[in-house]
Amino acid sequence: MMSFCIKCGAKNKKLINNLCEECFWSEKSIDIPSEINLVLCSSCTSYLHGKKWIKKKDFNSALNESILTELKKKLSKNILLKNIEIIKDEKIPNKIIIIVEICLENLSKKFEILGNISYKKCDYCQAVDSGKYKTIVQIRNISNEYIDKIKSIIKEFQILNGRKEITEVKEVKEGINIKFMSVSKARLFARKISSITGAKIVETAKTIGFTKGEPNYVVTISVRLPLKNIGEIISLENNIYRILGVVKGKILVQNLETNKRILLDYDKIEKAEKIEFKKVRIESKKGRFVTLLDVDNKCFIDIPLEEIQKDLKEGDYGLLINFKGKEIVVKI
Ligand SMILES: [Zn+2]
Ligand SMILES: [Zn+2]
Repeated sequence: MMSFCIKCGAKNKKLINNLCEECFWSEKSIDIPSEINLVLCSSCTSYLHGKKWIKKKDFNSALNESILTELKKKLSKNILLKNIEIIKDEKIPNKIIIIVEICLENLSKKFEILGNISYKKCDYCQAVDSGKYKTIVQIRNISNEYIDKIKSIIKEFQILNGRKEITEVKEVKEGINIKFMSVSKARLFARKISSITGAKIVETAKTIGFTKGEPNYVVTISVRLPLKNIGEIISLENNIYRILGVVKGKILVQNLETNKRILLDYDKIEKAEKIEFKKVRIESKKGRFVTLLDVDNKCFIDIPLEEIQKDLKEGDYGLLINFKGKEIVVKI
């Protein structure tokens, strides 16, 4: 029996519901867009989906997923997306040809769609550029023993999964302040430092204003390394102590004003502030001023007589400490 298309009359063709393939597709009048617009981040591997940026692990997965989500928006539900092929021309980075294979009633057909790619900065990358940050990690009481290790961990966290994570590293008098983009990565970082140094982690959140009624937070994660280095000078509850050593799991310290020795618990030591000091020698003690020799820097410093401990004599060695804005010399 001779079979022919009931619409166009074509003979010797494969028929679906008495229609040849061309007539079948034209009958279905499926609406395939001739082009679609895709928005990708110019700095990381995110694509824009509606109003939301979605981060993918690499550029190609971001491109593929953005094509899929755009196509799904435009194609009717009974159409099955069978395959997608992307043809790129490196010279024209904002245009791609997408070969889409769709399937309807077990019949598949390929279409060519033009993909227009526009590159914008995603919210995250914009926030990075504008220097906004959500989290500050403050590392304190850094000893020479750990400084290199800490710096290499900072380097490790600079860029994570193709995204800038650390936006600022600032060395301050008390330690290092690091601005992170996300709280979760900052926590991970803090835990890593703590696992190596035994640092205590304390997290605090503070509201710093509102955007559209939603509070903006700054999370501060304090990473305080234990002060247990012998010879270090610390201040605690208005007293100045020198760390002498560890005795039975406690820290032996000497009060530098009274010379009394006491044992302190680790918890207590963790609240202490490290104090910078200079090793000095009493050169001359005449009149109202005392001349000191800065032993390491080989220079002289004059300070008022009342700032040195009374029992210090010429030729004695001491420590020059800046404590609460006042200079004090204590005997060693
Ligand atoms: Zn036909
Ligand atoms: Zn981005």
